[in-house]
Amino acid sequence: MSEFIYKKSIPDEIEADVAVIGGGPSGLCAAVAAARGGAKVVLIEKNAFCGGMATAGMVAPFMTCYDSAGNKMLIRGLFEELVERLIAVGGAIHPSKVESKTAFTSYIDKGHIHVTPFKAESLKIVADEMLAEAGVRILYHTKFVDAETEGDRVTRIIVDMKEGLASVRAKAYIDCSGDGDLAAAAGAEYSVGNAQGKMQPATMFFTVGGVDVPKVDADIAENWGNFFRKDGINYRSLHWWVAKAKEAGDWPLDRVSIGLFRGVEEDEFSINTSRVMNIDGTKSESLTSGEIEGRQQVRIIFNFLKKYIPGFENSRLILSGSTLGIRETRHIKGIRTLCVDSVLGCEVPEDSILLAANSVDVHGKYGPKSNEYITIPEGKCYGIPYGCMIPPAFSNLAVAGRAISADCESAGAIRVMPPCMGIGQAAGTAVAMAVASGADLRTLDVAALRKKLAEDHVVLDAENL
Ligand SMILES: Cc1cc2nc3c(=O)[nH]c(=O)nc-3n(C[C@H](O)[C@H](O)[C@H](O)COP(=O)(O)OP(=O)(O)OC[C@H]3O[C@@H](n4cnc5c(N)ncnc54)[C@H](O)[C@@H]3O)c2cc1C
Repeated sequence: MSEFIYKKSIPDEIEADVAVIGGGPSGLCAAVAAARGGAKVVLIEKNAFCGGMATAGMVAPFMTCYDSAGNKMLIRGLFEELVERLIAVGGAIHPSKVESKTAFTSYIDKGHIHVTPFKAESLKIVADEMLAEAGVRILYHTKFVDAETEGDRVTRIIVDMKEGLASVRAKAYIDCSGDGDLAAAAGAEYSVGNAQGKMQPATMFFTVGGVDVPKVDADIAENWGNFFRKDGINYRSLHWWVAKAKEAGDWPLDRVSIGLFRGVEEDEFSINTSRVMNIDGTKSESLTSGEIEGRQQVRIIFNFLKKYIPGFENSRLILSGSTLGIRETRHIKGIRTLCVDSVLGCEVPEDSILLAANSVDVHGKYGPKSNEYITIPEGKCYGIPYGCMIPPAFSNLAVAGRAISADCESAGAIRVMPPCMGIGQAAGTAVAMAVASGADLRTLDVAALRKKLAEDHVVLDAENL
Protein backbone atom coordinates (compact mmCIF):
# COMPACT_ATOMS: atom_id res chain seq x y z
CA MET A 1 0.00 0.00 0.00
CA SER A 2 1.46 3.36 -0.97
CA GLU A 3 1.32 6.23 1.52
CA PHE A 4 1.44 10.01 1.38
CA ILE A 5 1.80 12.80 3.93
CA TYR A 6 -1.32 14.94 4.22
CA LYS A 7 -0.25 18.52 5.02
CA LYS A 8 -2.79 21.20 5.79
CA SER A 9 -3.23 23.50 8.76
CA ILE A 10 -6.02 22.59 11.19
CA PRO A 11 -7.94 25.07 13.39
CA ASP A 12 -6.80 24.77 17.01
CA GLU A 13 -9.72 26.37 18.80
CA ILE A 14 -11.49 23.78 20.95
CA GLU A 15 -10.16 23.74 24.49
CA ALA A 16 -11.46 21.99 27.57
CA ASP A 17 -10.32 20.48 30.85
CA VAL A 18 -11.65 17.08 29.81
CA ALA A 19 -12.47 15.65 26.38
CA VAL A 20 -14.74 12.60 26.37
CA ILE A 21 -14.74 10.53 23.18
CA GLY A 22 -18.07 8.77 22.58
CA GLY A 23 -21.49 9.49 24.05
CA GLY A 24 -22.64 5.90 24.62
CA PRO A 25 -23.66 4.63 28.07
CA SER A 26 -20.15 5.09 29.45
CA GLY A 27 -19.43 8.41 27.72
CA LEU A 28 -22.71 10.00 28.78
CA CYS A 29 -22.00 9.19 32.43
CA ALA A 30 -18.31 10.10 32.17
CA ALA A 31 -19.13 13.52 30.71
CA VAL A 32 -21.88 14.29 33.25
CA ALA A 33 -19.75 13.12 36.19
CA ALA A 34 -16.68 15.10 35.06
CA ALA A 35 -18.74 18.27 34.52
CA ARG A 36 -20.51 17.90 37.87
CA GLY A 37 -17.04 17.47 39.37
CA GLY A 38 -16.21 21.01 38.21
CA ALA A 39 -14.38 20.31 34.94
CA LYS A 40 -15.00 22.09 31.64
CA VAL A 41 -16.00 19.14 29.47
CA VAL A 42 -16.36 18.64 25.72
CA LEU A 43 -18.10 15.51 24.44
CA ILE A 44 -17.13 14.23 20.99
CA GLU A 45 -19.75 11.94 19.42
CA LYS A 46 -19.89 10.85 15.78
CA ASN A 47 -23.67 10.30 15.82
CA ALA A 48 -26.32 12.99 16.11
CA PHE A 49 -27.35 11.82 19.59
CA CYS A 50 -26.07 10.03 22.66
CA GLY A 51 -26.73 6.45 23.76
CA GLY A 52 -24.36 4.48 21.53
CA MET A 53 -25.60 0.91 21.32
CA ALA A 54 -28.71 1.86 23.36
CA THR A 55 -29.93 4.22 20.64
CA ALA A 56 -28.00 3.77 17.39
CA GLY A 57 -27.72 0.02 17.96
CA MET A 58 -31.34 -0.38 19.21
CA VAL A 59 -29.97 -2.63 21.98
CA ALA A 60 -32.42 -3.09 24.87
CA PRO A 61 -33.15 -3.58 27.74
CA PHE A 62 -30.52 -2.34 30.23
CA MET A 63 -29.30 -5.66 31.60
CA THR A 64 -29.67 -6.32 35.32
CA CYS A 65 -28.36 -3.79 37.82
CA TYR A 66 -29.10 -6.07 40.82
CA ASP A 67 -27.04 -8.57 42.78
CA SER A 68 -27.20 -12.09 41.40
CA ALA A 69 -30.09 -13.10 43.69
CA GLY A 70 -32.08 -10.09 42.51
CA ASN A 71 -32.42 -8.72 46.05
CA LYS A 72 -30.62 -5.40 45.95
CA MET A 73 -30.01 -2.74 43.33
CA LEU A 74 -26.25 -2.75 43.01
CA ILE A 75 -25.58 -0.33 40.16
CA ARG A 76 -27.02 3.01 41.22
CA GLY A 77 -25.46 6.49 40.93
CA LEU A 78 -25.93 8.07 37.50
CA PHE A 79 -27.47 4.88 36.10
CA GLU A 80 -30.29 5.06 38.65
CA GLU A 81 -30.71 8.80 38.04
CA LEU A 82 -31.02 8.16 34.30
CA VAL A 83 -33.60 5.42 34.88
CA GLU A 84 -35.66 7.67 37.19
CA ARG A 85 -35.57 10.47 34.64
CA LEU A 86 -36.63 8.07 31.88
CA ILE A 87 -39.51 6.80 34.02
CA ALA A 88 -40.63 10.40 34.63
CA VAL A 89 -41.19 10.85 30.87
CA GLY A 90 -42.72 7.39 30.34
CA GLY A 91 -39.48 6.12 28.81
CA ALA A 92 -38.63 3.20 31.12
CA ILE A 93 -40.02 0.67 33.58
CA HIS A 94 -38.30 0.49 36.96
CA PRO A 95 -36.21 -2.72 37.20
CA SER A 96 -37.78 -3.61 40.56
CA LYS A 97 -41.03 -4.21 38.65
CA VAL A 98 -39.48 -6.53 36.07
CA GLU A 99 -39.27 -10.22 36.95
CA SER A 100 -37.19 -12.86 35.17
CA LYS A 101 -38.76 -15.58 32.99
CA THR A 102 -41.12 -13.02 31.49
CA ALA A 103 -41.43 -11.38 28.08
CA PHE A 104 -39.22 -8.52 29.39
CA THR A 105 -36.30 -10.87 29.97
CA SER A 106 -36.56 -13.10 26.92
CA TYR A 107 -38.12 -15.71 29.22
CA ILE A 108 -34.66 -16.42 30.66
CA ASP A 109 -34.79 -17.56 34.27
CA LYS A 110 -31.27 -16.86 35.58
CA GLY A 111 -29.06 -13.79 35.40
CA HIS A 112 -31.77 -11.65 33.81
CA ILE A 113 -33.72 -10.63 36.88
CA HIS A 114 -34.71 -6.93 37.12
CA VAL A 115 -33.66 -5.69 33.71
CA THR A 116 -34.77 -2.17 32.69
CA PRO A 117 -36.89 -1.79 29.54
CA PHE A 118 -36.48 1.71 28.08
CA LYS A 119 -37.33 3.73 24.98
CA ALA A 120 -34.37 4.78 22.82
CA GLU A 121 -36.15 8.01 21.79
CA SER A 122 -36.61 9.04 25.42
CA LEU A 123 -32.99 8.23 26.16
CA LYS A 124 -31.76 10.55 23.40
CA ILE A 125 -33.68 13.50 24.89
CA VAL A 126 -32.91 12.77 28.54
CA ALA A 127 -29.21 12.42 27.68
CA ASP A 128 -29.22 15.82 25.94
CA GLU A 129 -30.87 17.33 29.03
CA MET A 130 -28.47 15.78 31.54
CA LEU A 131 -25.46 16.95 29.54
CA ALA A 132 -26.84 20.46 29.08
CA GLU A 133 -27.71 20.80 32.77
CA ALA A 134 -24.18 19.71 33.71
CA GLY A 135 -22.75 22.32 31.31
CA VAL A 136 -21.09 19.87 28.91
CA ARG A 137 -20.21 21.24 25.47
CA ILE A 138 -21.67 18.69 23.08
CA LEU A 139 -20.15 18.13 19.64
CA TYR A 140 -22.34 15.70 17.69
CA HIS A 141 -21.39 14.91 14.07
CA THR A 142 -17.79 14.91 15.27
CA LYS A 143 -15.55 11.89 14.94
CA PHE A 144 -12.28 11.26 16.74
CA VAL A 145 -9.56 10.69 14.14
CA ASP A 146 -6.13 10.77 15.76
CA ALA A 147 -4.15 11.61 18.89
CA GLU A 148 -0.88 13.47 19.49
CA THR A 149 1.24 12.58 22.50
CA GLU A 150 4.28 14.00 24.28
CA GLY A 151 6.00 11.78 26.82
CA ASP A 152 3.31 10.33 29.07
CA ARG A 153 0.62 12.81 28.04
CA VAL A 154 -1.99 12.92 25.32
CA THR A 155 -1.60 16.51 24.22
CA ARG A 156 -4.16 16.98 21.48
CA ILE A 157 -6.67 15.05 19.41
CA ILE A 158 -7.74 15.54 15.81
CA VAL A 159 -11.45 15.33 15.10
CA ASP A 160 -13.47 15.27 11.90
CA MET A 161 -16.26 17.86 11.99
CA LYS A 162 -18.80 18.82 9.37
CA GLU A 163 -16.65 21.85 8.53
CA GLY A 164 -13.47 19.76 8.24
CA LEU A 165 -10.69 18.55 10.50
CA ALA A 166 -10.20 20.38 13.82
CA SER A 167 -8.18 19.85 16.96
CA VAL A 168 -9.25 19.56 20.58
CA ARG A 169 -6.83 20.31 23.41
CA ALA A 170 -7.70 19.11 26.89
CA LYS A 171 -5.91 18.53 30.17
CA ALA A 172 -7.22 14.95 30.27
CA TYR A 173 -9.09 12.55 28.00
CA ILE A 174 -11.62 9.77 28.56
CA ASP A 175 -11.93 7.19 25.80
CA CYS A 176 -15.54 5.95 25.76
CA SER A 177 -15.58 4.98 22.08
CA GLY A 178 -16.26 1.33 22.96
CA ASP A 179 -13.38 0.36 20.69
CA GLY A 180 -10.61 2.20 22.51
CA ASP A 181 -10.03 4.33 19.40
CA LEU A 182 -8.22 7.15 21.22
CA ALA A 183 -6.13 4.88 23.44
CA ALA A 184 -5.07 2.78 20.45
CA ALA A 185 -4.20 5.85 18.36
CA ALA A 186 -2.16 7.24 21.25
CA GLY A 187 -0.13 4.03 21.31
CA ALA A 188 -1.63 2.30 24.38
CA GLU A 189 -1.12 -1.46 24.53
CA TYR A 190 -4.19 -3.57 23.79
CA SER A 191 -5.44 -7.02 22.86
CA VAL A 192 -8.31 -7.82 20.53
CA GLY A 193 -11.06 -10.34 21.32
CA ASN A 194 -10.10 -13.56 23.10
CA ALA A 195 -6.68 -15.18 23.56
CA GLN A 196 -6.77 -16.23 19.89
CA GLY A 197 -7.72 -12.70 18.76
CA LYS A 198 -11.26 -13.86 17.90
CA MET A 199 -14.02 -11.33 18.61
CA GLN A 200 -17.60 -12.13 19.64
CA PRO A 201 -20.12 -12.16 16.78
CA ALA A 202 -22.11 -9.05 15.92
CA THR A 203 -25.90 -8.69 15.92
CA MET A 204 -28.28 -6.38 14.06
CA PHE A 205 -30.97 -5.58 16.61
CA PHE A 206 -34.48 -4.68 15.48
CA THR A 207 -37.83 -3.83 17.01
CA VAL A 208 -41.23 -5.20 16.09
CA GLY A 209 -44.60 -3.67 17.03
CA GLY A 210 -48.20 -4.87 16.92
CA VAL A 211 -47.43 -8.12 18.75
CA ASP A 212 -50.08 -9.92 20.80
CA VAL A 213 -47.76 -10.56 23.76
CA PRO A 214 -50.23 -12.62 25.88
CA LYS A 215 -50.50 -15.00 22.93
CA VAL A 216 -46.69 -15.30 22.75
CA ASP A 217 -46.60 -15.82 26.54
CA ALA A 218 -49.16 -18.63 26.23
CA ASP A 219 -47.13 -20.42 23.56
CA ILE A 220 -43.95 -20.12 25.64
CA ALA A 221 -45.78 -21.40 28.75
CA GLU A 222 -47.12 -24.39 26.84
CA ASN A 223 -43.69 -25.35 25.53
CA TRP A 224 -41.62 -24.24 28.52
CA GLY A 225 -39.47 -26.93 30.02
CA ASN A 226 -38.66 -28.86 26.89
CA PHE A 227 -35.11 -27.57 26.89
CA PHE A 228 -32.99 -27.09 29.99
CA ARG A 229 -29.22 -26.97 30.23
CA LYS A 230 -27.42 -28.98 32.89
CA ASP A 231 -27.25 -25.89 35.13
CA GLY A 232 -31.02 -25.47 34.93
CA ILE A 233 -31.02 -22.41 32.70
CA ASN A 234 -33.73 -22.33 30.07
CA TYR A 235 -32.84 -19.68 27.54
CA ARG A 236 -33.89 -21.20 24.26
CA SER A 237 -37.26 -19.57 23.79
CA LEU A 238 -39.18 -20.50 20.62
CA HIS A 239 -36.59 -23.10 19.61
CA TRP A 240 -39.48 -25.50 18.92
CA TRP A 241 -40.65 -23.16 16.13
CA VAL A 242 -37.12 -22.61 14.82
CA ALA A 243 -36.75 -26.41 14.48
CA LYS A 244 -40.05 -26.61 12.54
CA ALA A 245 -39.06 -23.73 10.26
CA LYS A 246 -35.69 -25.35 9.62
CA GLU A 247 -37.41 -28.58 8.60
CA ALA A 248 -39.61 -26.60 6.20
CA GLY A 249 -36.61 -24.80 4.69
CA ASP A 250 -37.65 -21.41 6.15
CA TRP A 251 -34.67 -21.03 8.53
CA PRO A 252 -31.26 -20.75 6.84
CA LEU A 253 -29.60 -19.18 9.91
CA ASP A 254 -27.29 -20.81 12.46
CA ARG A 255 -29.29 -19.66 15.51
CA VAL A 256 -31.46 -22.21 17.32
CA SER A 257 -33.72 -19.88 19.33
CA ILE A 258 -35.07 -16.32 19.40
CA GLY A 259 -34.13 -13.57 21.89
CA LEU A 260 -37.27 -11.52 22.51
CA PHE A 261 -37.26 -8.60 24.94
CA ARG A 262 -40.56 -6.79 25.51
CA GLY A 263 -40.22 -3.01 25.58
CA VAL A 264 -42.04 -0.26 27.46
CA GLU A 265 -44.88 -0.35 24.93
CA GLU A 266 -46.98 -3.42 25.59
CA ASP A 267 -47.00 -4.66 21.97
CA GLU A 268 -43.30 -4.18 21.16
CA PHE A 269 -40.31 -6.50 21.26
CA SER A 270 -36.60 -5.80 20.74
CA ILE A 271 -35.14 -8.80 18.97
CA ASN A 272 -31.62 -9.99 19.66
CA THR A 273 -31.19 -12.94 17.29
CA SER A 274 -29.26 -12.19 14.10
CA ARG A 275 -25.65 -13.33 14.24
CA VAL A 276 -22.91 -12.07 11.96
CA MET A 277 -19.63 -13.91 12.38
CA ASN A 278 -16.07 -12.68 11.85
CA ILE A 279 -16.75 -8.95 11.88
CA ASP A 280 -14.00 -6.55 12.94
CA GLY A 281 -15.77 -3.56 14.51
CA THR A 282 -12.66 -1.41 14.13
CA LYS A 283 -12.75 -1.56 10.31
CA SER A 284 -15.24 0.31 8.09
CA GLU A 285 -15.44 -2.26 5.32
CA SER A 286 -15.96 -5.14 7.73
CA LEU A 287 -18.72 -3.16 9.52
CA THR A 288 -20.33 -2.41 6.17
CA SER A 289 -20.48 -6.05 5.12
CA GLY A 290 -21.80 -6.95 8.60
CA GLU A 291 -24.55 -4.36 8.34
CA ILE A 292 -25.64 -5.62 4.92
CA GLU A 293 -25.63 -9.24 6.16
CA GLY A 294 -27.36 -8.21 9.43
CA ARG A 295 -30.25 -6.53 7.59
CA GLN A 296 -30.69 -9.63 5.40
CA GLN A 297 -30.95 -11.71 8.57
CA VAL A 298 -33.46 -9.27 10.07
CA ARG A 299 -35.71 -9.82 7.06
CA ILE A 300 -35.47 -13.60 7.42
CA ILE A 301 -36.17 -13.49 11.17
CA PHE A 302 -39.11 -11.10 10.83
CA ASN A 303 -40.69 -13.24 8.07
CA PHE A 304 -40.24 -16.29 10.31
CA LEU A 305 -41.87 -14.56 13.29
CA LYS A 306 -44.89 -13.51 11.25
CA LYS A 307 -45.32 -16.92 9.67
CA TYR A 308 -44.71 -19.20 12.64
CA ILE A 309 -45.12 -17.53 16.03
CA PRO A 310 -48.59 -17.24 17.56
CA GLY A 311 -49.00 -13.56 18.43
CA PHE A 312 -46.84 -12.14 15.61
CA GLU A 313 -49.42 -12.56 12.82
CA ASN A 314 -50.26 -8.83 12.68
CA SER A 315 -46.87 -7.49 13.72
CA ARG A 316 -44.84 -4.89 11.84
CA LEU A 317 -41.11 -4.29 11.67
CA ILE A 318 -40.44 -0.87 13.19
CA LEU A 319 -36.69 -0.34 12.77
CA SER A 320 -33.33 -2.09 12.69
CA GLY A 321 -30.24 -0.55 14.27
CA SER A 322 -28.61 2.30 12.39
CA THR A 323 -25.39 0.55 13.32
CA LEU A 324 -24.50 -3.11 13.72
CA GLY A 325 -24.29 -4.27 17.35
CA ILE A 326 -20.62 -4.84 18.17
CA ARG A 327 -20.00 -6.83 21.35
CA GLU A 328 -16.23 -6.86 21.43
CA THR A 329 -13.19 -5.27 19.83
CA ARG A 330 -10.14 -3.92 21.69
CA HIS A 331 -9.39 -4.45 25.36
CA ILE A 332 -7.04 -1.61 26.34
CA LYS A 333 -4.39 -2.83 28.76
CA GLY A 334 -4.54 -1.02 32.10
CA ILE A 335 -2.45 -0.92 35.25
CA ARG A 336 -4.89 -3.63 36.45
CA THR A 337 -6.76 -6.22 34.37
CA LEU A 338 -10.09 -7.73 35.37
CA CYS A 339 -10.00 -11.49 34.92
CA VAL A 340 -12.70 -14.11 34.83
CA ASP A 341 -11.43 -15.90 37.96
CA SER A 342 -11.94 -12.80 40.08
CA VAL A 343 -15.39 -12.22 38.53
CA LEU A 344 -16.58 -15.79 39.15
CA GLY A 345 -14.75 -15.86 42.49
CA CYS A 346 -16.72 -12.73 43.48
CA GLU A 347 -13.58 -10.84 44.46
CA VAL A 348 -14.03 -7.25 45.55
CA PRO A 349 -10.61 -5.54 45.48
CA GLU A 350 -10.05 -2.59 47.84
CA ASP A 351 -9.75 -0.17 44.93
CA SER A 352 -13.07 -1.19 43.34
CA ILE A 353 -14.92 1.65 41.65
CA LEU A 354 -18.06 -0.38 40.96
CA LEU A 355 -19.79 -3.55 42.11
CA ALA A 356 -21.65 -5.63 39.54
CA ALA A 357 -23.19 -9.09 39.26
CA ASN A 358 -23.72 -9.46 35.53
CA SER A 359 -23.16 -12.97 34.20
CA VAL A 360 -20.25 -13.91 31.97
CA ASP A 361 -21.89 -13.87 28.54
CA VAL A 362 -19.56 -14.64 25.63
CA HIS A 363 -21.41 -15.20 22.37
CA GLY A 364 -20.17 -17.60 19.72
CA LYS A 365 -17.30 -18.87 21.86
CA TYR A 366 -16.95 -22.19 20.10
CA GLY A 367 -18.78 -21.40 16.86
CA PRO A 368 -21.92 -19.71 15.57
CA LYS A 369 -24.35 -21.79 17.67
CA SER A 370 -22.60 -21.60 21.02
CA ASN A 371 -22.66 -19.10 23.86
CA GLU A 372 -20.78 -19.26 27.13
CA TYR A 373 -23.15 -18.05 29.84
CA ILE A 374 -22.04 -18.38 33.47
CA THR A 375 -24.07 -16.82 36.26
CA ILE A 376 -22.50 -15.33 39.41
CA PRO A 377 -23.04 -17.33 42.64
CA GLU A 378 -26.43 -16.50 44.20
CA GLY A 379 -26.52 -13.20 46.11
CA LYS A 380 -22.92 -12.29 45.25
CA CYS A 381 -21.15 -9.66 43.18
CA TYR A 382 -17.65 -8.70 42.06
CA GLY A 383 -15.68 -5.46 42.04
CA ILE A 384 -14.08 -3.63 39.12
CA PRO A 385 -10.71 -2.17 40.16
CA TYR A 386 -9.79 1.42 39.39
CA GLY A 387 -6.64 0.44 37.47
CA CYS A 388 -8.69 -1.30 34.73
CA MET A 389 -9.48 2.18 33.40
CA ILE A 390 -5.93 3.53 33.32
CA PRO A 391 -3.38 2.67 30.58
CA PRO A 392 0.07 2.57 32.25
CA ALA A 393 1.82 4.69 29.61
CA PHE A 394 -0.30 7.82 30.19
CA SER A 395 -0.84 10.22 33.08
CA ASN A 396 -3.93 11.92 31.62
CA LEU A 397 -5.89 9.19 29.83
CA ALA A 398 -8.71 6.99 31.15
CA VAL A 399 -10.76 4.38 29.31
CA ALA A 400 -14.37 3.62 30.27
CA GLY A 401 -17.05 1.25 28.97
CA ARG A 402 -16.56 -2.06 27.25
CA ALA A 403 -12.93 -1.40 26.19
CA ILE A 404 -11.46 -1.34 29.74
CA SER A 405 -8.68 -3.72 30.68
CA ALA A 406 -10.37 -7.11 31.01
CA ASP A 407 -9.92 -10.60 29.61
CA CYS A 408 -12.46 -11.72 27.05
CA GLU A 409 -14.65 -13.60 29.57
CA SER A 410 -14.79 -10.90 32.24
CA ALA A 411 -15.34 -8.30 29.51
CA GLY A 412 -18.29 -10.53 28.51
CA ALA A 413 -19.74 -9.74 31.95
CA ILE A 414 -19.09 -6.02 32.36
CA ARG A 415 -19.80 -5.05 28.74
CA VAL A 416 -23.53 -4.62 29.41
CA MET A 417 -24.90 -1.12 29.82
CA PRO A 418 -25.41 -0.64 33.59
CA PRO A 419 -21.77 -1.52 34.46
CA CYS A 420 -20.55 0.55 31.50
CA MET A 421 -22.46 3.52 32.93
CA GLY A 422 -21.00 2.90 36.39
CA ILE A 423 -17.48 2.71 34.96
CA GLY A 424 -18.17 5.93 33.01
CA GLN A 425 -19.25 7.71 36.19
CA ALA A 426 -16.10 6.54 37.99
CA ALA A 427 -13.85 7.64 35.11
CA GLY A 428 -15.52 11.07 34.87
CA THR A 429 -15.27 11.61 38.62
CA ALA A 430 -11.63 10.47 38.72
CA VAL A 431 -10.56 12.64 35.81
CA ALA A 432 -12.29 15.73 37.24
CA MET A 433 -10.45 15.15 40.54
CA ALA A 434 -7.14 14.71 38.73
CA VAL A 435 -7.62 17.87 36.66
CA ALA A 436 -8.56 19.89 39.76
CA SER A 437 -5.50 18.75 41.72
CA GLY A 438 -3.02 18.26 38.87
CA ALA A 439 -2.68 14.58 39.85
CA ASP A 440 -1.39 11.81 37.60
CA LEU A 441 -4.29 9.40 36.95
CA ARG A 442 -1.99 6.43 37.56
CA THR A 443 -1.38 7.49 41.15
CA LEU A 444 -4.71 9.12 41.96
CA ASP A 445 -5.95 8.88 45.56
CA VAL A 446 -8.43 6.03 44.98
CA ALA A 447 -9.73 6.18 48.56
CA ALA A 448 -10.79 9.80 47.95
CA LEU A 449 -12.36 8.79 44.63
CA ARG A 450 -14.34 5.98 46.32
CA LYS A 451 -15.51 8.41 49.00
CA LYS A 452 -16.81 10.80 46.33
CA LEU A 453 -18.46 7.96 44.40
CA ALA A 454 -20.20 6.73 47.57
CA GLU A 455 -21.47 10.29 48.18
CA ASP A 456 -22.85 10.16 44.64
CA HIS A 457 -24.86 6.98 45.42
CA VAL A 458 -22.45 4.44 43.93
CA VAL A 459 -22.71 1.18 45.94
CA LEU A 460 -19.20 0.10 47.01
CA ASP A 461 -19.81 -1.80 50.24
CA ALA A 462 -20.08 -5.49 49.33
CA GLU A 463 -20.25 -6.54 53.00
CA ASN A 464 -23.52 -4.79 53.66
CA LEU A 465 -25.47 -5.57 50.55
C1 LIG B 1 -25.87 -7.26 19.99
C2 LIG B 1 -25.68 -6.72 21.35
C3 LIG B 1 -26.57 -7.05 22.35
C4 LIG B 1 -26.43 -6.50 23.62
N1 LIG B 1 -27.39 -6.73 24.57
C5 LIG B 1 -27.36 -5.99 25.70
C6 LIG B 1 -28.47 -6.00 26.58
O1 LIG B 1 -29.48 -6.66 26.34
N2 LIG B 1 -28.42 -5.22 27.69
C7 LIG B 1 -27.31 -4.47 28.00
O2 LIG B 1 -27.32 -3.79 29.03
N3 LIG B 1 -26.24 -4.45 27.18
C8 LIG B 1 -26.25 -5.18 26.03
N4 LIG B 1 -25.21 -5.11 25.16
C9 LIG B 1 -23.94 -4.44 25.54
C10 LIG B 1 -23.96 -2.94 25.44
O3 LIG B 1 -24.93 -2.45 24.55
C11 LIG B 1 -22.59 -2.35 25.05
O4 LIG B 1 -21.53 -3.16 25.42
C12 LIG B 1 -22.49 -0.98 25.71
O5 LIG B 1 -23.39 -0.11 25.07
C13 LIG B 1 -21.08 -0.44 25.66
O6 LIG B 1 -21.10 0.90 26.10
P1 LIG B 1 -19.92 1.86 25.67
O7 LIG B 1 -20.27 3.21 26.18
O8 LIG B 1 -18.64 1.25 26.05
O9 LIG B 1 -19.93 1.82 24.06
P2 LIG B 1 -21.04 2.11 22.97
O10 LIG B 1 -22.40 1.85 23.45
O11 LIG B 1 -20.58 1.36 21.77
O12 LIG B 1 -20.90 3.66 22.70
C14 LIG B 1 -19.74 4.18 22.07
C15 LIG B 1 -20.07 5.57 21.52
O13 LIG B 1 -18.90 6.13 20.99
C16 LIG B 1 -19.16 6.67 19.70
N5 LIG B 1 -17.91 6.57 18.95
C17 LIG B 1 -17.25 5.42 18.63
N6 LIG B 1 -16.13 5.72 17.95
C18 LIG B 1 -16.09 7.07 17.87
C19 LIG B 1 -15.17 7.97 17.29
N7 LIG B 1 -14.05 7.54 16.66
N8 LIG B 1 -15.43 9.29 17.36
C20 LIG B 1 -16.58 9.75 17.97
N9 LIG B 1 -17.48 8.93 18.53
C21 LIG B 1 -17.24 7.61 18.48
C22 LIG B 1 -20.27 5.80 19.15
O14 LIG B 1 -21.00 6.46 18.14
C23 LIG B 1 -21.10 5.52 20.40
O15 LIG B 1 -22.07 6.52 20.61
C24 LIG B 1 -25.32 -5.66 23.89
C25 LIG B 1 -24.42 -5.34 22.88
C26 LIG B 1 -24.59 -5.85 21.62
C27 LIG B 1 -23.64 -5.45 20.57
